[in-house]
Amino acid sequence: MTNPTYNFCAGPAALPKAVMEKAQQELLNWRNLGISVMEISHRSAEYQALATTAEANLRKLLNISDDYAILFLHGGATLQFSNIPMSLLNATNEAEYLSNGMWSGKAAKEARRYGNVNEIEIVATDSEGRRFVTDSGSWSRSDNPAYTHYTPNETIEGIRIGGKLPANSPVIADMSSCILSENIDVNDYAMIYAGAQKNIGPAGMTIVIVKKAFFEQMNFSQVPRVFNYQEQAKQGSMINTPPTYTWYLASLVFEWLLEQGGVAEMEQRAIARAEKLYSYIDADDFYSNPIAIKNRSRMNIPFILADNGLDGLFLEKAQAANLVGLKGHRSVGGMRASLYNSMPLEGVDALIEFMADFKRKYA
Ligand code: PMP
Repeated sequence: MTNPTYNFCAGPAALPKAVMEKAQQELLNWRNLGISVMEISHRSAEYQALATTAEANLRKLLNISDDYAILFLHGGATLQFSNIPMSLLNATNEAEYLSNGMWSGKAAKEARRYGNVNEIEIVATDSEGRRFVTDSGSWSRSDNPAYTHYTPNETIEGIRIGGKLPANSPVIADMSSCILSENIDVNDYAMIYAGAQKNIGPAGMTIVIVKKAFFEQMNFSQVPRVFNYQEQAKQGSMINTPPTYTWYLASLVFEWLLEQGGVAEMEQRAIARAEKLYSYIDADDFYSNPIAIKNRSRMNIPFILADNGLDGLFLEKAQAANLVGLKGHRSVGGMRASLYNSMPLEGVDALIEFMADFKRKYA
């Protein structure tokens, strides 16, 4: 019997098997219409019902009040890197960008095209060579920023900032790689955004959760109409044709999450998976992870081999053992195991077993 395939890709990433099976089952005949969900109008009663239910389920999952609008948009998280400063920065104000890795750095760089940015590097290296997030008291903060942008989970480096961010300004969080994996209080944020292709669905859609009162601080006079958050909220994210198939798959993921026990259950599973893999890595002198324990990501676990000359062989043998997508980001090298909501604990067990076996044979 061949081993099941476990997909550790960082994104686009593995989706729950039950969701994929449901999508397969309904592919050619959705809700007895005799056609696929991707072939119908986004303005049809059936699709509108899907959109309404998806939003209601996301509200339930993250306990989102009516003070917030939820938008289902095109353009990826990268578009939000522009759309946010475009709407909020002007010649006289400033935004604070906390920088803890590649994606937060890219967000800050893009914002600088639109206005004044105070980018604060918040990661340092301790005496054991481990990277950690510095104490917020040591950050050189802006006096009265229009907003503070940060990235609670840096997907490439595997750095996590848990808990409530200390800030007196509206907080905007890029939760692309951690949304729906842990309990958060949405009321702590003016805006949350996340690309779909990790914990939400396939690529092609970005979810934006935005406090309606925050619209008052935005200026949309110079932005294309589809980038006008307030207008999108008014029109149910349908100023133009939305990414209907991705939205549909996201709706199946939300249903699956509710059936599984919601975000609290996802958080327990994420902790269990991550603790298991980090414990193994820490106990073994052949593998290592360069992040201080308090800032280790639960979703993206980078690790390096003591001999990087074996990287290619490791990936080749892993692939042959049906463990796919373990190559680290091209900017950092090494390996990375992404353990999103859809990853069963058995996937982590299979990876650990493979790592131990690889070390015995080749180290
Ligand atoms: N932010 C984070 C934290 C990410 O991991 C990524 C990569 N998926 C992005 C932004 C960019 O996302 P997209 O490719 O959807 O623009």
